[in-house]
Amino acid sequence: MSVRMRVNRGATGRRRSGHGLEEPRISLCSNCKASHLRHHMCSECGHYRGRLVVDVAAKAEKKALKQESRRKEMGEGKKEQAGNIEEEKNTVTQKEENPVLSPDEILRK
Ligand SMILES: [Zn+2]
Repeated sequence: MSVRMRVNRGATGRRRSGHGLEEPRISLCSNCKASHLRHHMCSECGHYRGRLVVDVAAKAEKKALKQESRRKEMGEGKKEQAGNIEEEKNTVTQKEENPVLSPDEILRK
């Protein structure tokens, strides 16, 4: 029993007939005249079809506050991590120096 796995050229062509890239549908915001994707909210002012959908300014403010608080939390953790990284770097450099020295030692011996 043999199963034919190969797809013929016709089927490949039919499958790929819809693959062509098209320009994204862009329209202008009725509120701030910025360009945005059609059927999508305006990312500049948060309006969709002349109606405020998302309060972009409040959201940005909230995001900034969250990032700030996260930075404060990470501040202590980052210092510890930095120390660990420096230690790791030292060990790496020592490892790199050892093979450089060893061939000379072998020649001397
Ligand atoms: Zn807008």
